[in-house]
Amino acid sequence: MKKLDFKVQLGVNPMKLQSILFDLDDTLLHCNKYFELVIEQFADQMATWFRGYNVKQHEIRTKQAELDVASVHSHGFTVEHFPQSFVDTYEHFSDLEGRPKSKSEAKFLYKLGSSVFEQEIEAYPNMRETLTALKSRGHELSLYTGGVKEVQLSKVARFGLDEFFHDRIFIALHKNTEAMEEVIVKKGLDRRRTWMIGNSIRTDIVPALENGIHSIHIPAIHEWDYNNVDIRIQPRSTFLRLSSLLEVPEAIERHAV
Ligand SMILES: [Mg+2]
Repeated sequence: MKKLDFKVQLGVNPMKLQSILFDLDDTLLHCNKYFELVIEQFADQMATWFRGYNVKQHEIRTKQAELDVASVHSHGFTVEHFPQSFVDTYEHFSDLEGRPKSKSEAKFLYKLGSSVFEQEIEAYPNMRETLTALKSRGHELSLYTGGVKEVQLSKVARFGLDEFFHDRIFIALHKNTEAMEEVIVKKGLDRRRTWMIGNSIRTDIVPALENGIHSIHIPAIHEWDYNNVDIRIQPRSTFLRLSSLLEVPEAIERHAV
């Protein structure tokens, strides 16, 4: 008797097995809300120091976001960019308003910004259920995230995500079309059967469209300005928008070829 393929025995059609790349922050784990929390403390502290000067809270927040995004554009994701954006914003308004700068205030702000990396992180709803369902159907899961290697790997370890991703964990300093292409080529992925799932139009969806792989956009519960861009490319592949992770396995089943 001819030996049956293991996957056929399980009742899974091997033609439909897919490679699925998952984003980490605000797709599988909460991230933006911790930044938001620290930005709020920053804006409050600045408002206290700049009382009596002509600086509004919303101007502080806008300037901080602008400087932070500019820094990510030029240096990529680093541990420094976020805390440094507090110091840069502080210096900007100090110079603008003629308020004397103090080293200890700047140091305080840098420390406040860094505290974002010490927050207790929560998973997105149904993270484990979704990954388990996809894995049990035989799909190959990879983690493709931007950020600082040590920070991201410590999150992987804390949530036991290597159980799903094993050695398929890719961390890009600049998470863009080229970085995604590198993963596709390195792993020899078949683009017709490869998916990117993430919250960021800029770093997950547009690069997926440009690389001709399928994509699923799941908007974050709290979004960061940097991630919001217009989509100017006509999809040649499947492009879906879902409201939660739980809908992913079925959507892939329905659209997979
Ligand atoms: Mg993300």
